[in-house]
Amino acid sequence: MGFVRGQEVKVILDAPLKDPIEYHIMGYDISLRRKEAEMIVVMTREEAEAITGAEETTLVDTHDIIEYAVGSKHKHITVGLVGNPNSGKTSLFNTLCGRSEHVGNYSGVTVDAKRGKLKYHDYTIEITDLPGTYALSAYSPEEVYVRRHIVENTPDVIVNTVVASNLERNLYLTTELIDMSPKMVIALNMYDELERGGAKFDHEALSEMIGVPMIPVVAPSGMGIEQLLDSVIAVHENSDSRVRHIHVGYGAVIEEHLEPLNSDMRLHRDELTAHFPPRYYALKLIEGDKEVSALLKSSPHYERWTKMAERARISIEEALDEDLEAALADRKYGFISGALKETFVAAEHRRDTWSDKLDAIVTHRIWGFPIFFALMWFMFYATFSLGAYPQEWIDMGVGWLYDTVRGMMAEGPLRDMITDGVISGVGSVLVFLPNIMILYLFISFLEDSGYLARAAFIMDKVMHRMGVHGKSFIPMVMGFGCNVPAVMACRTIECRTSRLITIMVVPFMSCSARLPIYMMIVGTFFAAHAGTVLFLLYLLGIAMAVISARLMRRFMFREQEAPFVMELSPYRMPTLMTTLRHMWSKCAQYLRKMGGLILIASIIVWLLSYYPRPKYDNNDTDAPTYELSYMGYLGQLCNPVFEPMDMEWQATVALISGIPAKEIVVSTMNVLYAQPGDDAPTTDDELSHDVSARIAGSMSTATAVAFLIFALLYLPCIATIMAIASELNWRWAVGSALYNTAIAWLMAWIAFHLTQWIV
Ligand code: GDP
Ligand code: MG
Repeated sequence: MGFVRGQEVKVILDAPLKDPIEYHIMGYDISLRRKEAEMIVVMTREEAEAITGAEETTLVDTHDIIEYAVGSKHKHITVGLVGNPNSGKTSLFNTLCGRSEHVGNYSGVTVDAKRGKLKYHDYTIEITDLPGTYALSAYSPEEVYVRRHIVENTPDVIVNTVVASNLERNLYLTTELIDMSPKMVIALNMYDELERGGAKFDHEALSEMIGVPMIPVVAPSGMGIEQLLDSVIAVHENSDSRVRHIHVGYGAVIEEHLEPLNSDMRLHRDELTAHFPPRYYALKLIEGDKEVSALLKSSPHYERWTKMAERARISIEEALDEDLEAALADRKYGFISGALKETFVAAEHRRDTWSDKLDAIVTHRIWGFPIFFALMWFMFYATFSLGAYPQEWIDMGVGWLYDTVRGMMAEGPLRDMITDGVISGVGSVLVFLPNIMILYLFISFLEDSGYLARAAFIMDKVMHRMGVHGKSFIPMVMGFGCNVPAVMACRTIECRTSRLITIMVVPFMSCSARLPIYMMIVGTFFAAHAGTVLFLLYLLGIAMAVISARLMRRFMFREQEAPFVMELSPYRMPTLMTTLRHMWSKCAQYLRKMGGLILIASIIVWLLSYYPRPKYDNNDTDAPTYELSYMGYLGQLCNPVFEPMDMEWQATVALISGIPAKEIVVSTMNVLYAQPGDDAPTTDDELSHDVSARIAGSMSTATAVAFLIFALLYLPCIATIMAIASELNWRWAVGSALYNTAIAWLMAWIAFHLTQWIV
């Protein structure tokens, strides 16, 4: 009838049973049933005032206020980003919202919906970045998730990212979206690759054909973004002439059997809960889709519809002599290839050869592994050696601050707290920021370029021997950065038992928070072979993960494995910008942790080690006070556990303090070993040497090795334990903590004796 938004609606007549109601809209008197009226957005004066806010004092008339508010509400558009894994949704999201969410060149990076906002002209556009899916049947958790999002959050417009250089497969999802008929715009992403490849694609024509606007974009560089947004707005306001709802034709047989149910449902349109076309409901019901059935359960016709659907399904399968799902998929691909035949001309065989050549080397039967290990070794070597320079500068800065503050403040507990507690505690962790940045730089590059997916590919066989999936490899490498996202990344592993095992072994992957501990101890005891020792530690972590996985597979889950399906998307040179952004977002996280958790922990550790003080005596502070402190008491209480490895109570306390976050081990060591007193250091250099020397003096090499190994393997930080609990449940989380700690102790004990025996 041509109603538009922003019009006044008046209730004229209320039927006795409250249904239907007669309204006066735009000069018409019409009667609407509640169900239909629900689609009209109505606003009370109060709601309108809340939107217009205080600044619109010029509006006094209710009508004006509401008109203004409706106008601005209208300018709020919600957008859902839907597309295949690795099609650039997150890149697009980041460019649009100026965010730096994690992108990676393999599927399954985004496992959660991320929301962001942007202002464009007068519009506020709220964007949700969804997990990648190849289809919208309800098989995988991602598919269910995306579909629920569309049903429950009803985004105003869907932006479907389609990889321009891989149309055939990407458009499959598009056909499913067309069936659901939401308002949609296609972001034809990676248009640069299409152009470089030399193919000819008339996207305008295809756009006309399927009735969905297609906008070429290059997400990371921002090309085409404005046109995309213009299109989103136009589609939202129904002013884009290209928009047309088409049907994907499923061929005579299917259509014929679909029709009765379809027309029956059309008659009862008002009973269909979500706003999808009846045809979609009919189709899904015939497919036997559980999610859609659930949406229809409340309808009085539900029983009849399911019976009709069942009959239709049987007739179709008989007539076609083919499984219905396969038949539908076949028709969809038929539709796509028909559409592409008229609009797309492939390049004369010009594959992205450098990507292929690189793959031939990197995934080579013989060279693959050496290259992989060389890269990993280089990563740890660079982390240690390149990081050493900036590390020294930060160290000097911290030392200078320590001296300056000590010189400026009056003697007493406050001064000691600020210098020995805060500055040396936080400073000792801050020093390792450069190392962590380098490690993340490498991991980001490996991920973004696509190498990590290849690594998973060459490791597949090995991973299978471990009893997990090739896909498990990526979360495990990510674990070197931080265990928390690594645990979450396990969601992409379809097979439940593989997922579970991978989650349980991720904590053995030595995260960057443990790096400072190694740096401190390795720097003190094995300075000459630091890179190698570091590499060996990481290897030990991996070995423990492998052994644990095998044990779990052998004794707890004896199911068969799903075959390995993993896409190897072409290599993409990550832009410096994205890599740096990626690295920075991790480092910012690290810095925040330092400002919060580590700062507080440093103060607590200091307090516990400073009090209770026997009568304050300037000339005789030192060691005895510490031993009598609460911390000393705690250390002595727990020390028997570590006695077999000759560990002193300070080390024990440090390990305990690392439970919230492992970096705290280092700050605790620093607070406990950097005691001022009559031999208080006078220069910054002496300060750090002093701590190193004290540590070296307090433990043997064998104890140091045991300490390192225990720190590597014992229970992961609280955040990881919580992540495990939320991905699995509390029982597994607690089990993981106990198991890791037990293994840690055992391995440390063995290593202690081995080292003693060798040295
Ligand atoms: P998602 O899985 O859909 O969220 O995809 P991502 O945003 O994580 O991107 C996958 C990969 O494609 C990343 O390596 C991106 O840097 C890369 N990428 C994304 N958009 C483009 C583009 O328009 N052109 C090129 N060449 N690469 C892109
Ligand atoms: Mg993503």
